[in-house]
Amino acid sequence: MKNDDQIETKLIHAGCDPEPRTGAVMPPVFLTSTYIQPAPAEHTGYEYSRTGNPTRTCLETAIAAIEGGKFGSAFSSGMGATDALIRLLDAGDHVVCGNDLYGGTHRLFTQVYRRFGLSFDFVDTTSIDPIREAWRPETKMLWLESPSNPLLHITDLAAAAKVAHEHGALVVVDNTFASPYLQQPFELGADVVVHSTTKYLGGHSDVVGGATVTNDEAIAKKIAFLQNAAGAIPGPLDCFLVHRGIKTLAVRMERHCDNAESVAAFLAEHPKVERVIYPGLATHPGREVAARQMRRFGGMVSFEVKGDVEAAKRLAMATTVFGLAESLGGVESLIQLPAAMTHAAIPREERIAAGLQDGLVRLSVGLESADDLRADLGRALEAV
Ligand SMILES: *Cc1c(COP(=O)(O)O)cnc(C)c1O
Repeated sequence: MKNDDQIETKLIHAGCDPEPRTGAVMPPVFLTSTYIQPAPAEHTGYEYSRTGNPTRTCLETAIAAIEGGKFGSAFSSGMGATDALIRLLDAGDHVVCGNDLYGGTHRLFTQVYRRFGLSFDFVDTTSIDPIREAWRPETKMLWLESPSNPLLHITDLAAAAKVAHEHGALVVVDNTFASPYLQQPFELGADVVVHSTTKYLGGHSDVVGGATVTNDEAIAKKIAFLQNAAGAIPGPLDCFLVHRGIKTLAVRMERHCDNAESVAAFLAEHPKVERVIYPGLATHPGREVAARQMRRFGGMVSFEVKGDVEAAKRLAMATTVFGLAESLGGVESLIQLPAAMTHAAIPREERIAAGLQDGLVRLSVGLESADDLRADLGRALEAV
């Protein structure tokens, strides 16, 4: 047995025993849809690749281990994973959610699942009272993102989970923004952790994927049933790519945090910047909670420039190192306007009510030279 208590070691070794026939260090990519059976209904553990594939098993084992959970399930996208978790519920059930969720999550809940008799309330989870006030007898799930997307709100996950558990409801934490290196939601009371592995876990902007992790065997069985029954599974090559990305998560996250801290400090001093949102800044209301439940403050920085939306648009088009694109968590730095791009599916009144202004700029700070990143933003701000 390897000594694999620390996450840095797990990231590299979990789910990755040497291949038994050849000793290959990396798991083979099993590009197969089916498996020869010795007799009808007798099989090797694999019968059809929607149900299971060895390359996917390696990834699922790894993701479970790095989240400190027992059971991992990989999906074809973060939305595929989110969709499976919502289908754990029955028509008539109610979900209390944070009010600053990934736009696609909000869209799936309100535009798809409301039609199937589920109901959702989106509340400010940075304090506990709104969660209690939104609670109903039929509330079965609490859905949290911390830091949230794109306002980087911090929820006290342990305190929020306690409310849900008093009522026997399930706590789901979308850990995409923090990654398991910076935050371990199971230690804070989560029942299920969900990821878009497209982001920090994959880390190289070359694959779309999702995952769920739980410690509860009954829930894990239901998720595996839904994964097989509905079929939002990743292909073996996608599994390989996510798994390869995971190995460098610890070193990447340290550098993402170094660079984000440097960029946030630079923007906070800049005369053309209205306000900077970064959980590591002394001005962030969630800093204390973030410091308690996260190892560091992450690689995402949001800010508002002085002036109108057009000024923000000009800024986003003037950077040259920061690429104008959706998504986050890759090695390269990206800039975008959530209201017009990733969160456009949320009705404007709802966005404004939740504090998401049209001119908000979101940065995914990559691994380039921090000097170059600050200089790029400085030049672009001059051009505004
Ligand atoms: C991107 C993202 C998702 C959706 O994941 P996809 O892989 O794009 O389907 C869900 N939650 C968060 C926080 C995200 O950033």
